[in-house]
Amino acid sequence: MDVTHIIEGLNDAQREAVTAPPGSTLILAGAGSGKTRVLVHRIAWLIQVEGLSPWSILAVTFTNKAAREMKHRIEALLGQPVGGMWVGTFHGLAHRLLRAHWQEAGLPQGFQILDSDDQFRLVKRIIREMNLDDSKWPPRQVQWFINQQKDEGLRADHLDHGGDPYQRQMIAIYREYEAACQRAGVVDFAELLLRAHELWRDRPDILQHYQERFGAILVDEFQDTNSIQYAWLRLLAGSRNNLFVVGDDDQSIYGWRGARVENIQDFQAHYPDTRIVRLEQNYRSSGNILSAANAVIANNPTRLGKQLWTDDGEGEPIRVYGAFNEVDEARFVIDRIREAIDHGMARAEMAILYRTTAQSRLFEEALIQQAIPYRVYGGLKFFERAEIKDALAYLRLTANPHDDPSFERAVNQPPRGIGAKTLEAIRLHARDFSCSLWQASEDLLRGGRMTARAGGALRGFIELIGEATAEAQGLDLAEQVEVALHRARLREHLQKSRDGKGQDRIENLDELINAARQFDYQGEQEDLSQLDAFLAHAALEAGDTQAEAYEDSVQLMTLHSAKGLEFPLVFIGGMEEGLFPHSMSAEDPQRLEEERRLCYVGMTRAMRQLYLCHAESRRLHGSETYPLPSRFLREIPAGVVQEVRARPQVSRPYTPAAGSLGAAREMTGFELGQRVEHPKFGAGVVLNAEGQGSGARVQVNFEAVGAKWLVVAYANLSPA
Ligand code: ATP
Ligand code: MG
Repeated sequence: MDVTHIIEGLNDAQREAVTAPPGSTLILAGAGSGKTRVLVHRIAWLIQVEGLSPWSILAVTFTNKAAREMKHRIEALLGQPVGGMWVGTFHGLAHRLLRAHWQEAGLPQGFQILDSDDQFRLVKRIIREMNLDDSKWPPRQVQWFINQQKDEGLRADHLDHGGDPYQRQMIAIYREYEAACQRAGVVDFAELLLRAHELWRDRPDILQHYQERFGAILVDEFQDTNSIQYAWLRLLAGSRNNLFVVGDDDQSIYGWRGARVENIQDFQAHYPDTRIVRLEQNYRSSGNILSAANAVIANNPTRLGKQLWTDDGEGEPIRVYGAFNEVDEARFVIDRIREAIDHGMARAEMAILYRTTAQSRLFEEALIQQAIPYRVYGGLKFFERAEIKDALAYLRLTANPHDDPSFERAVNQPPRGIGAKTLEAIRLHARDFSCSLWQASEDLLRGGRMTARAGGALRGFIELIGEATAEAQGLDLAEQVEVALHRARLREHLQKSRDGKGQDRIENLDELINAARQFDYQGEQEDLSQLDAFLAHAALEAGDTQAEAYEDSVQLMTLHSAKGLEFPLVFIGGMEEGLFPHSMSAEDPQRLEEERRLCYVGMTRAMRQLYLCHAESRRLHGSETYPLPSRFLREIPAGVVQEVRARPQVSRPYTPAAGSLGAAREMTGFELGQRVEHPKFGAGVVLNAEGQGSGARVQVNFEAVGAKWLVVAYANLSPA
């Protein structure tokens, strides 16, 4: 059999990993060393050489996008489709499992998935219904608490408050939330994992079926698995030693969300015969980029330790730009992007990375100004838009009328005169009788205790869903969506909207029909209707931070979302103390290490050119700040860096850059960084200077009153 196409182009260590004999295997290797590539080739090898059926392979990736890519690459290598293979995220795979065993998992057949926003709304409603003050019990925090428990495999019943009133209340809310989800037949993201785990734990017969089926289990980005995910993998593997995991402890960046980098060490303890393969050659980045990233991560004291080298040349130096403020930073980045485009580079080859989502706005504005197409990952995605979620709520109700969050969303959207009092009565009845809002509505209507008007409006809604459900029978998916939109009169409602966005939103609804038309579920779960598959797809995509790009566009994303990706040209913005490392992490050594790993992840996304930017002043949370350059910049060896100086511009404040400090003195008589005294404002430090002669101005950060621009000729400043 000719297998050269599977192993050619691999180095020795990669080949060893790809062709390893069956048994637990851990590929521990740094960024860009080909871990994901090895995983793809390994699967091809298993199918072609070891004779495994695609049906017996389960592969876990970090995002749905990565799963799609992996599948394509395997098919390209094999030259045949791998339909029966399970490849997806933990959430996607858990969902698949629960669909197949909804009954055994204690779920209704039409169960629906709550995305994070749905979950938040439900938590909020429950807090209100429990008559708790949501300033004391912030829904976000409660949501976080619930997910954290679930990630550890804990249900409300497992938790002990130990007499602590805070814990007691949190647990009580958690319990209410669990009951509400159960009544409504909805599961949140963390619940997917927890329930999938419980299913296998409690049903050895089902577990055994999957253990026999999956001869090989492969996991990418293993360093970011949490407790429940790893427990789930271990159940599936049983004693078969068939886990093949790849990871990099230096890229563990989800500790704050429950990921356990310790799973890597535990893995070696749990599977003592594990074959460990280290990949040390980096194929992604040029030498300077790699040296810089290596130097930064070397400052982390707790590492498993890895070497990474490249035989690529040094390449270009890393460019560090000190902008005078965040607007200047954005301008600088977009100017470079413009140049690169003019040199023929594809837009999709460029990425702007940042620590916090709020940073995207200025880059976006600058890109819009220049008419450069761009796309923000992890921003509000199609399936998260309000009008799309409204439409989906109707569809979800036709799939499962007991879906309370969808009921709440659709019942008065568009407004149909169902008043707050009626809704309150429905909720109360649902609680008293432990039933869904739908059921409660039917009960109340039947009981005839409602006013004619309220009853009429509610009946109209119930009938609407009933009719949409009946009408959708036998139609294809896109037609079902059309029926729901039509019955719900969402388009008519949007047409009336006055904020000027109605047309856009109507187009989005049309796009939803397109999405349904293009959606083609070919899973092997015949009992899963196209509609349920589509709704699950929408919810799971909404939970992802990466999605396909539809046109050649500049990629904007948080450093977290950049995981696993690579781009020839990368910009990292906001390399400042307080922002990156984030102020919330700077004091805690463990969290600081995670920030540094995030920096390592960011830098190692770059293939050929890397720009690191920081601003001398930045508006943060509504006030002007004067951050120091990030410590991570100082950790980069000087030899691989080139400082980019700002070009002097008359209309713009002078930008301080190393080496040109003297210019400020020439212009204004003051030096940047110099301490000064003002008769009224007191002591301060000179931050910026611009203009000359009688027009010379300086910006001084006063201890008492903050930053001010002053005209030197009138300010009466004296050196302190
Ligand atoms: P990360 O840690 O960022 O997830 P990784 O270890 O998964 O990175 P890959 O994404 O698999 O690394 O590979 C990085 C780049 O190097 C890819 O472009 C890949 O195609 C290329 N590459 C990997 N191995 C080789 C090789 N043996 N020959 C040529 N190119 C390779
Ligand atoms: Mg990878």
